[in-house]
Amino acid sequence: MAGDPQAIPRYRIAPSPTGFFHVGGARTALFNWALARREGGRFVLRIEDTDQARDRPQWTTGIIEALAWLGISSDDPTFEGPYFQSANAAAHVAAAERLFAAGHAYYCDLTPEQVQERSTSSGRPGYDGYSRERDLAPGPGRVLRFRVPDGTTIVRDRIRGDVTFEHAAIEDFVLLRGNGRPMFLLANVVDDIEMGITHVVRGEEHLPNAPKQQLMWSALGHGPPMWAHVPVLVNEQRKKLSKRRDKVALEQYRDEGFLAAAMVNYLMTLGWAPAGDTEIVPWAQIEEEFRIEDVTHSPGYFDVKKLAAFNGEYVRALPVDEFVDACRPWLPAHYDLDTFTAIAPLVQTRVVTLAEAPGLVDFLFLDEPQIDEAAWSKAMGPEWAGPLLDAAIDAYGAASWDTDTLKVELERIGAEHGQKLGKAQAPVRVAVTGRTVGPPLFESLELLGRERTLGRLRAARAKLAEPAPMP
Ligand code: GLU
Repeated sequence: MAGDPQAIPRYRIAPSPTGFFHVGGARTALFNWALARREGGRFVLRIEDTDQARDRPQWTTGIIEALAWLGISSDDPTFEGPYFQSANAAAHVAAAERLFAAGHAYYCDLTPEQVQERSTSSGRPGYDGYSRERDLAPGPGRVLRFRVPDGTTIVRDRIRGDVTFEHAAIEDFVLLRGNGRPMFLLANVVDDIEMGITHVVRGEEHLPNAPKQQLMWSALGHGPPMWAHVPVLVNEQRKKLSKRRDKVALEQYRDEGFLAAAMVNYLMTLGWAPAGDTEIVPWAQIEEEFRIEDVTHSPGYFDVKKLAAFNGEYVRALPVDEFVDACRPWLPAHYDLDTFTAIAPLVQTRVVTLAEAPGLVDFLFLDEPQIDEAAWSKAMGPEWAGPLLDAAIDAYGAASWDTDTLKVELERIGAEHGQKLGKAQAPVRVAVTGRTVGPPLFESLELLGRERTLGRLRAARAKLAEPAPMP
């Protein structure tokens, strides 16, 4: 039970299934998960699916899959749920009736327009308590309002310390709508109480709700949960991350080939840092060290560049076979796995996300390279490019086909044309791969094989010999 010191800690997240899973929600989920796991508690997933206009079942599936991707999964005994708020509607109404019976709530028959009119003419914002002493019975169109007592509420927040709310600034808020349906705040509190939630760690946009919720916990006969309101995430302009402006969907990062471990580690460093001088640490260490009290009050900067740097580190740290496996969803069907595996170590050091991997080595899997025109003009521009290609075709026709020999030969040919190896590589690279950048050239040639390399060099030579198109 909540408030019972013997109880195991019960954390929860309570997302609404109204869209993609937001990176901020993912961070909050991870904070809850780290705490629940270390404290031997539970992590409850409750889907708050009571907004009929906006909820969609596919978003619920999306939330569950996104959590599983982060490693928060029902395979772990810490995980409990998912529970669905909509399934508990009878309990929400019953709790409202108890509050009414005990005098903590009262009915009001004013329409929203009348509430607005009274507020405008009195100059005081919100509902003015008009029906407090009118003793109305329930009836169609009548809303049930919570009777906010005089005084103050102190929300003890584990991140912000004590936050004091004057009740004078809190209107008698609605618990049941005129059609009898429960409001979000009521459902949220009743579910938390029924699910024995002891710790509420959630986004700070919910802090203004906390005093109202705490009043309800108390009116329903319970001490409040331990609160922690996690600062918002902001973008480079220090504006709150928004669906419209920023890339916030966790799913999108997953689909672009960010590694879950990198994402998890990065999200945990937004507002918190592990001990020691590196932020790149395994989950086990995070779980051991994370304290909600150490989370900063200031907004967390969701820096996509830093996330990319984390991801690059995680990608490079993978054993090659795991890297190949991780890339598989992004490999086109015509990519031969043995060839990709052979080049993989060279790809692994050069990509930030897995999705970039296939494009870097596409030339190995195409009949002809896709020539980038800008790269072509740059590499084939110098007048020595053609003769150098001729010499390379000659030499590579006879050379032993291994990385070292291919390199030594091109070094020699370059010198004969007055070029260092770096320069001499450019026409060969563009002829064979279509681009000026890519994995190391000679390893690539070795993998591509003599015949295909020579074919591409000859094709490039022929293209170069064509008369320039009329301007
Ligand atoms: N359903 C609310 C939301 O998605 C959660 C409220 C809470 O965590 O208490 O924002």
